[in-house]
Amino acid sequence: MNCLEAQSKIMAFIENKLPDDELREFIKHVRSCKNCYEELDIYYTLIVGMKQLDESDNISTDFKNALDRHLDEEMNRLTTVKRIANSTIMVVIVLVVSGLIWLYSGVLDKVYNYEQTSKLSEQSEYYYQDFFGSRLLNDEEYDVSDIDKYYIEINTTQDETTDFMKRVHKYNLSHKGMNSL
Ligand SMILES: [Zn+2]
Repeated sequence: MNCLEAQSKIMAFIENKLPDDELREFIKHVRSCKNCYEELDIYYTLIVGMKQLDESDNISTDFKNALDRHLDEEMNRLTTVKRIANSTIMVVIVLVVSGLIWLYSGVLDKVYNYEQTSKLSEQSEYYYQDFFGSRLLNDEEYDVSDIDKYYIEINTTQDETTDFMKRVHKYNLSHKGMNSL
């Protein structure tokens, strides 16, 4: 903010009409620019003094002190607002990052499981492990007759139609008379 801009905002400052971002720049400028500070001091004394006359308050004699306090208070308020905004942003960032980490680790788990499963399924043991289990890898537990048991088990468990046909067959056998129909 240059001097021209700062001086054009003096009235707005005194009437508390500056938006926060302009207010911050304004205070920074008048704090570092002697000319603008003096200009502000004159207006401030005039306007606040007249206002106090108007409201027949006790007229404060130390306007400069009042102006400094006003400037400090506003700057503190701005800093607090900024700090709150920053910490809100930090909280949001932390939440987003931890959410991403959580998602990412979930994805990693999935990828890992998928890799493991696909690695296993490339090995023929995978298909038979439910039945054979450790016998596949251990010669001493392995028994050739296991293969027969395996096929019997496979064929007896799942097929509903076979079961149904078997029951019909059984029924027919126990009711011999029905065979002729
Ligand atoms: Zn200036």
